[in-house]
Amino acid sequence: MSQGEFDIIHKYFDRPAESEQGVTLGIGDDCAILDIPDGYQLVVTTDSLVSGVHFFEDVDPYRLGYKALAVNLSDIAAMGAEAKWVSLAITLPSIDEHWLSQFCRGFFALADKYNVRLIGGDTTKGPLSITVSAKGIVKRGQALRRDGARPGDLLCVSGVLGDGGLGLAVKLFSESCDKINNKQVFIDALELTEPRLILAQQLASYASSCIDISDGLSQDLIHILNKSQCHAQIELEKLPFSAAMKQQIQQGHISQLQAWQFAVSGGDDYELLFTVPAEKMPAFQQLISTQLANSELVCYQIGKITAIPASTQKESIEFSVDSKQAITFTHLQQPMDLDKAGWDHFK
Ligand code: ADP
Ligand code: MG
Repeated sequence: MSQGEFDIIHKYFDRPAESEQGVTLGIGDDCAILDIPDGYQLVVTTDSLVSGVHFFEDVDPYRLGYKALAVNLSDIAAMGAEAKWVSLAITLPSIDEHWLSQFCRGFFALADKYNVRLIGGDTTKGPLSITVSAKGIVKRGQALRRDGARPGDLLCVSGVLGDGGLGLAVKLFSESCDKINNKQVFIDALELTEPRLILAQQLASYASSCIDISDGLSQDLIHILNKSQCHAQIELEKLPFSAAMKQQIQQGHISQLQAWQFAVSGGDDYELLFTVPAEKMPAFQQLISTQLANSELVCYQIGKITAIPASTQKESIEFSVDSKQAITFTHLQQPMDLDKAGWDHFK
């Protein structure tokens, strides 16, 4: 970028730190130097947000800065890890100081909330795009992977479902959503998601597998089922909905079936989807209920992991589960058919 690059880095991104937070060397050299405590492993993730694909060109920059970090921290949470550091590669069409200061306000509001330190990045000129890479630490061997689910494990989510998907629908198809009221609640759910980092810290001792729901419950569950070589059953009556979503159903603005559909394939909820072995569930629920004051510690059991029927097992050691059969939906024990397709950038 032109002359302004270093001024921008200095003015907006290189903030004085309140504490070391394991950073031996931060912004200003060719690399940052980070200290990993003994007995821990580093977890690393990257997510890009591209204008016109992941966000609308005119999106509020505060919300964009917030969300660019939130989706990365959600991945750290999904590993049962503690978020520590983040790097930010930003491509800007021009230097708009108002835009940049709002972007940073959103980004650092979330970073400060979870004590996450910006330790480097890159600043270039071009079509607006943002790539964040978050780094976290987890006790050696304790990371929650996608391959740990076993038949009999209970399937849980960390919060209500469907609001993010409805928020996107409200923004994309405003005319066909004209009956929906309290639209802002759903748009907020889409744009100001809360990474479940507090729950993640507790999950490491209880959960057998975990993923965050970015593309839709079904599609993300399939990733767990593939890695763990299992099937699953979801009880629709147990899917948790927000008060705002329940109101839409009660007032007939959307049907119960549509609400389930948003929950199952809407995406953008950024809740954790995890499995807990049945014998660990009482202790886990005890922990959650004794900390009810903390609204970031919630858990809804929505179904269970099942074995792949012997008749459909294939000979290879590991195979892709049949996405049509891998998830069974029931409503009050009766089988129900829902569309399981989630978000796919190339479809
Ligand atoms: P280099 O050319 O060696 O890659 P740069 O000149 O691109 O380094 O960046 C200078 C310093 O500023 C580096 O420490 C880099 O990590 C940091 N930096 C650049 N852009 C950002 C940004 N958007 N956010 C945080 N740090 C940044
Ligand atoms: Mg560079």
